[in-house]
Amino acid sequence: MLYKSSRGLYRDYSCAEVIKTGIAPDGGLFVPDYYPKFELAAFNSMKNLSYQERALLVLTPYLNGFSATDLSNCVRSAYRSDNFADARITPLRELTPNCLVQELWHGPTCAFKDMALQILPHLMTVSLKITGENKQVVILVATSGDTGKAALEGFKDVPGVRILVFFPEEGVSIVQKQQMITQTGKNVKVIAVDGNFDDTQTGVKKIFANSKLTESLDANNFLFSSANSINWGRLVPQIVYYINAYVDLLKNSSIKVGEKLNFVVPTGNFGNILAGYYAKRMGLPINKLICASNSNNVITDFVRTGTYNRIRTFHKTASPSMDILVSSNLERLLFELCERDSGRVKHWMDELHNHGIYSVDSAILAKLQNEFWSDFCDDQGTINTIAKVWEQYNYLMDPHTAVGYNVYEKYQQTSGDQTKTVLISTASPYKFGTDVAKALLPSKIINESTEYELLQRLADFTGVPIPEPLQNLKKRNVLHNESCTKENMEAALMKWLSIA
Ligand SMILES: *Cc1c(COP(=O)(O)O)cnc(C)c1O
Repeated sequence: MLYKSSRGLYRDYSCAEVIKTGIAPDGGLFVPDYYPKFELAAFNSMKNLSYQERALLVLTPYLNGFSATDLSNCVRSAYRSDNFADARITPLRELTPNCLVQELWHGPTCAFKDMALQILPHLMTVSLKITGENKQVVILVATSGDTGKAALEGFKDVPGVRILVFFPEEGVSIVQKQQMITQTGKNVKVIAVDGNFDDTQTGVKKIFANSKLTESLDANNFLFSSANSINWGRLVPQIVYYINAYVDLLKNSSIKVGEKLNFVVPTGNFGNILAGYYAKRMGLPINKLICASNSNNVITDFVRTGTYNRIRTFHKTASPSMDILVSSNLERLLFELCERDSGRVKHWMDELHNHGIYSVDSAILAKLQNEFWSDFCDDQGTINTIAKVWEQYNYLMDPHTAVGYNVYEKYQQTSGDQTKTVLISTASPYKFGTDVAKALLPSKIINESTEYELLQRLADFTGVPIPEPLQNLKKRNVLHNESCTKENMEAALMKWLSIA
């Protein structure tokens, strides 16, 4: 299988090139030539396989050029039992016989980014080998919280790669900051930027766009790459857990072979739900993909009207990993919906870039609505949902997952659809413990406790244990205390790489 750019640059790329490069040279996103088809019998025959074995079957057709041994090693190193707290990797919990929660947060950083960022570094190493690359790869990340930590955990001590994470001093929670500044690993660096997330992200984009700097890196045998969710190597591992959920339900006879499922996905950059769409294209029986947004409801409006308009107020919400106004991976969906007409994709993306808005025609909108349904949930709705789900089902949800559950209820009320539904849970409730505590504990306790104390209070109240990676965070050694101004990010990078 080969890959091409969604914006039409005429050249075929191997999977290894695609993973090494991250983004296509014309600014487009890499897309595969086709989606390998699996028969229903193939899903059924995966019943007695482990997550790792299922992953290998799903990934193999996409990762051409990777030897069977290499790919198997990638999968086994990523989804190890000492890396994931649950041997099933993405366990399902039943809320009702018709609604199951798939937990994607048993990895080392307690959020769903681990599903991809635990394997991407291994895929990157093999890609470097296949392409004969002898430069050291430098991964640069600007993070508002989850991605930075997950990337650090994934890339720590990976040979041939160094990783530098910039986080905004004013933009991450105390727990998130502590997770990053206590990061171990010989090839990692974490720097606080004196500014907000926008400043930090703009700084990193400037570094990437600075051709003189890229040349001087090149001369010193370094090469930039990206670990953000436009990299195909982050998207493809996410197809696996959709299929895994289906096969698990076949295995315990909750569904019949060929029966359709709905998936509800708390959505930000549209990477997670897009992987669900790809699973459907591969033959997985999926009825609706339900896209849940928070108050930054650009995608909800898009699915309802066909107009994507990012010119609106940005809201900081209780589900910060979904606080996004430009969902990059939507470009890959558009490419499929318009029958791979890259000229049209480029036109829409130019409109978005130049005017902040574009509209698709009624034929494309009809196709979009045929596959997706969308609604949103504000912070009050999120907090209420966490409380309600705890009372009704004794199940503790993080705010992102609660947005999903709230939208699922709206979907049911609107459609009356009784299809069995899997709600994708994207973070441990303890990763966003302060807001979860607000839903369940008296305000007196909230006001009098630190973020760390609240985690313990929440555990005492619910009896749900704090995941190991979030325990004793406060006592860990701080290994990174460097900070810089937004103007000095480039200098900080050069100093770390010892380039004069
Ligand atoms: C990143 C993230 C999301 C959004 O996923 P996308 O793939 O960007 O749509 C949702 N919830 C959590 C906890 C996340 O970290």
